[in-house]
Amino acid sequence: MNTPDPQVHAAALAAEPDSTPAGVAVIYTALPESTQVATLATLMDTVASYLGEEDQRRIRDAYRFGDEAHLGQFRSSGEPYISHPIAVAEICAGWKLDAESIMAALLHDTVEDTSVSKQDVHERFGSQVSEIVDGLSKLDRVSIDSREARQAESFRKMLLAMARDARVILIKLADRLHNMRTIEVLPPAKRRRIAVETLQVYAPIASRLGLYTLYRELLDLSFRAAYPKRFEVLSKAVRAARGNRRETIARVYADVQKALPKAGVNAKVFAREKALYSIYQKMRLKRLPFSKVYDVYGVRIIVETVLDCYKALGALHMTFKPIPGRFKDYIALGKENGYQSLHTSLMGPSNMPIEFQIRTEEMQRIAESGVAAHWLYKSEGEDFSDLQKLAHSWLKTLIDIEHNTGDPLEFMDHVKVDLFPDEVYVFTPVGDIRSLPRHATALDFAYSVHTDVGNKAVGARINGAPARLNEALSSGDVVEILTSENAHPQPVWLSYVRSGKARSEIRHFLKTMRYDESVALGRRLFQQALASLGIDANAVDSEMAERSARDSGAADLLSLYAEIGIGKRLAPLEARSLALLARGKPEAARIMPRLAPVLIRGDERSAVTYASCCSPIPGDQIIGHLRGGHGLTLHRNRCKTALRQRERDADRFIDVDWSDRLEGVFRTRIELSVTAGRGTLGKVAAEIAASDANISDVAMHEQGKDGHLEFVIEVRDRTHLAQLLRNLRRLPDVHTVSRV
Ligand code: MN
Repeated sequence: MNTPDPQVHAAALAAEPDSTPAGVAVIYTALPESTQVATLATLMDTVASYLGEEDQRRIRDAYRFGDEAHLGQFRSSGEPYISHPIAVAEICAGWKLDAESIMAALLHDTVEDTSVSKQDVHERFGSQVSEIVDGLSKLDRVSIDSREARQAESFRKMLLAMARDARVILIKLADRLHNMRTIEVLPPAKRRRIAVETLQVYAPIASRLGLYTLYRELLDLSFRAAYPKRFEVLSKAVRAARGNRRETIARVYADVQKALPKAGVNAKVFAREKALYSIYQKMRLKRLPFSKVYDVYGVRIIVETVLDCYKALGALHMTFKPIPGRFKDYIALGKENGYQSLHTSLMGPSNMPIEFQIRTEEMQRIAESGVAAHWLYKSEGEDFSDLQKLAHSWLKTLIDIEHNTGDPLEFMDHVKVDLFPDEVYVFTPVGDIRSLPRHATALDFAYSVHTDVGNKAVGARINGAPARLNEALSSGDVVEILTSENAHPQPVWLSYVRSGKARSEIRHFLKTMRYDESVALGRRLFQQALASLGIDANAVDSEMAERSARDSGAADLLSLYAEIGIGKRLAPLEARSLALLARGKPEAARIMPRLAPVLIRGDERSAVTYASCCSPIPGDQIIGHLRGGHGLTLHRNRCKTALRQRERDADRFIDVDWSDRLEGVFRTRIELSVTAGRGTLGKVAAEIAASDANISDVAMHEQGKDGHLEFVIEVRDRTHLAQLLRNLRRLPDVHTVSRV
């Protein structure tokens, strides 16, 4: 049997020994009065404690490189700029990050702020360091300033998605910590903006990583910088309460020390205090005065076994009066994020409420060090990427909740970790953030904006450059969608999209729009087939037509038309069965004078597809291919693809022609050879627009002085196209123009 012996352990955080009873370790969140200034010497001391000589040499080399790059630059405080990267590197070294991370920390602002390029860093320090520095430079370019607070969550996710290497995030946090520690020198407005961003974005990320010390320091530094008066008032209140409680804490501690051994429990006892900002948040959100915030003071008890947790709970409940409704058993009802602990609030001496957390060493390890433990204290022989994978899978098991308001005593309850989500985050032109599944395209984005935007999309601009609808998006892209009234979803779009919303909207459109259009097309095809048998469809008895449809297995005549329209049934066969019926009742049908082709008006929408191999437009000789389930596809008469298909599938080719009454515009492709150079594309595009044609896609290849442009354009007919080609040939930099 063990001799119960409560032990006291020193906490790593800044303590205020004069306000605490001897022997009690208190985890305070009070900000350190001053931080020792980091120098190359202090950095190298820290580094030497865990890295070998070769690594130290490389780190010194990175320092020299960074020092030279930043030469002549100064911080707002007047110090040479290099003091900042050194401080950031020292914070990272305190976390025992690997040599690449320390080097990247020293170089983190070189690519963004000096003439050094990513390539320079790559050549001198290798791909790992240059990739990390590149990741950091990218993060530097996004800032939340103009974005609204409701977007903070998306913003955090976006940062994580952009930084695919955990080291990038850790260094970014160290960077932010040092900037917050030295924020005093900035003007108030800027101070406040950075502080709010830290509260909304960076502190929650630190908490997700389990970097609790950092999390608390970021919270309180930001609180002080953003709301200096409130910070002052609240710290005075806490200081006063702390003075009063000096004696109380000592008595609680003594009582716990007596009670636990009596219950046969071997325990370590810690006292702790809530972060100022968390107290402030709780007062604000729950509209409480300071005196009603119960969990300002807490005691954590670490025991050996799960059974000990409950024994300790029993012992405490016999020693202090429980506050009703404040007990939570996160051991029996484990949280999905892996957190386990018993929480209970008890009334201490002098009616001071105290929150107790009781847990085993193992539970403590998960709750306190979280993910960071995997990264920061890796053991020999473990590779960083293995650890990252491990951490990643661990993170994946953690739950998702709406708000992480940041209560350090309880925040594991709320930990929300989706580090490196399988999503991309992009901006709308006005700066709203949208999240889309990874590999999502411009078309997914269009549907995320609005169903109509998706349905009418013809092209996109990504970061200002023209892009196709199936272009994949990356986090941070600014995306704009070009629409046209004549556009509508195409079946091929289903292969462009990744998001469920886009997929179902496209399906929905194709299905409903298609039905009406298919009926109309099917009716025309059916009438044409009847005509070729010498029957005038308009003179067919409608009852007989219905019966014939049902005889051949369709629900009714309209369904029969629809099925013909989408190519599930062949019009000539259906016409023949009607003809057989009609032969028995000659009075029900009348002989047609001539065979008529199906007339295309251009408003058939999804029932008619214009083959992309030959892009027929009015004026071209055309043939129609009725493909099962796809409706009617139009080809130019001499299209090689069509001729090849016709050999195999002659039954499904039908006569078509253009109607006299055409609707809308038609797509076709043209190619130009031009003199390469700035402005040529613009001139050509302007001429196309001036000729009253639309551009729906463009591709450009340049080879030396020669440029090749390919446009998908929308024109009314062949005459319009011919006019356009003539206009283009007149341009000075254009050598040849032709239809593809
Ligand atoms: Mn920096």
